[in-house]
Amino acid sequence: MKELEFYLEQRKKLSAFNYIDFLTGWDAQTDAAAGSIAADSAYQSVLAEMEYKLTTDPEFERCVEALYANRETLDEALRHEIEVTHKSVADTKKIPMNEYSAFGELTAKAYPVYVEAKLTGNFRLFEPYLERIVRYCRKLTVWLESDSAKGYDVLLDMYEPHFTQAKYDAFFDVLRNRLVPFVKQKTARVAPVPQWAKQKIEKEKQREFCEYIRDVMCFDKNFGIMKESEHPFTSGIGTDDVRITTHYYENDFVSSVFSVIHETGHATYERQVDPKLNGTLCGGGASLGMHESQSRFYENIIGRSEAFWRVHYPKLQSVFAPKLDGVSVEEFVGYVNRTEASFVRTEADELTYPLHIMLRYEIEQKLISGELETADLPEYWNKKFTEYFGITPPNDSLGVLQDVHWAYGDFGYFPTYALGSAIAAQLYHAMSKDFNVEQSLASGTTARVNAWLKERVHKYGASKYPDEILRLATGEDFNPDYYVNYLIAKYSRN
Ligand SMILES: [Zn+2]
Repeated sequence: MKELEFYLEQRKKLSAFNYIDFLTGWDAQTDAAAGSIAADSAYQSVLAEMEYKLTTDPEFERCVEALYANRETLDEALRHEIEVTHKSVADTKKIPMNEYSAFGELTAKAYPVYVEAKLTGNFRLFEPYLERIVRYCRKLTVWLESDSAKGYDVLLDMYEPHFTQAKYDAFFDVLRNRLVPFVKQKTARVAPVPQWAKQKIEKEKQREFCEYIRDVMCFDKNFGIMKESEHPFTSGIGTDDVRITTHYYENDFVSSVFSVIHETGHATYERQVDPKLNGTLCGGGASLGMHESQSRFYENIIGRSEAFWRVHYPKLQSVFAPKLDGVSVEEFVGYVNRTEASFVRTEADELTYPLHIMLRYEIEQKLISGELETADLPEYWNKKFTEYFGITPPNDSLGVLQDVHWAYGDFGYFPTYALGSAIAAQLYHAMSKDFNVEQSLASGTTARVNAWLKERVHKYGASKYPDEILRLATGEDFNPDYYVNYLIAKYSRN
């Protein structure tokens, strides 16, 4: 078919642009000196324009349309890719061009104002921008609505396909009813941070242990390096170049250790995708939620377990010697699983984390439906926060202004974070039926866990929708009970 040939040629070019985006983005966040960013941006705009022309090429659109009409004749992965591309091409056309570019300008202007507002704790400074951003997102839901997605559903679907308000509502209802009272009880008394956890550990020592952790997780270093950045992240292209970063705090070594376990979880997912999907648009993870489920599976379920540290704590002690000599493995595991009510989402522990997301979900839902206006946000935030956590943010920097997502217009993104944790628990339940996960860690590596996840989740890449992969992996639809049961069982032991 001529259309298929053209499509594949165009896809090759698009993949080359993805490759350049990955490399320049990686460089900007790791090695580039602050002053070099200016030189970079001049070329970036040229590349962005070329890429835009490729995706909006009328011939490309015509081919996607023709392939979509004949999708039953395509192999499974390509059929899925065409369905997704067809929707994204159609959606882009539904957004009025002038509105779209005005929104781009708006968020570009909003960002520095947001930063200033957060620094000074002055929500009123940012509010006029946020008000316009919300107004645009409300319009977006009208432009893109379909039979299956209306209102906030439209935005949710952009980050997690098929995950509607009805599903999220059911999820967060379970958290509200079962987890909120449990968290109140567990955070009523908080143990102080032990002195040993705040000792100075040189960056080099931390790096040495983090590289050891990558080996424990069987990450083949021929296919990805680890560097430093302000915020840890994973980036790559295909299965053969998957890189991670971490951030070393000399007085908080636990932070880099768990960042590396988390990011190596993301990286393992990317590495274990079927290599046949390299160069297609179906490589990488199936969705944000599915990606986060993998990083959190390794970070929380594996990395914070006693079984894991029974094997690896002696190595930690010897690399950091003599600083942890008097600290037992039980004390260490207890510390990395301590819980307390705190104001900032990114610093929250495993147990309290989903409640931070629940709060944001409820607020987004009300903002998009028009039930809540941006002017009333700080007051509403503080009231709900106090209700769920029993403490009140002392200022808006520690409250409604703490996250950057809304300044970018990313409404619908937050819920995927909590969904990821919940999917991880459901996968853990299914995995435990096949073998004893804790016992498998005694071998010294996560090889058995990796193999199970590869077969059930990773190999599919993005060639299926995430809800379909979850059904294949666990034999059932998303079920939040596994998550709440897991959290309550784990934190009842502490
Ligand atoms: Zn992550």
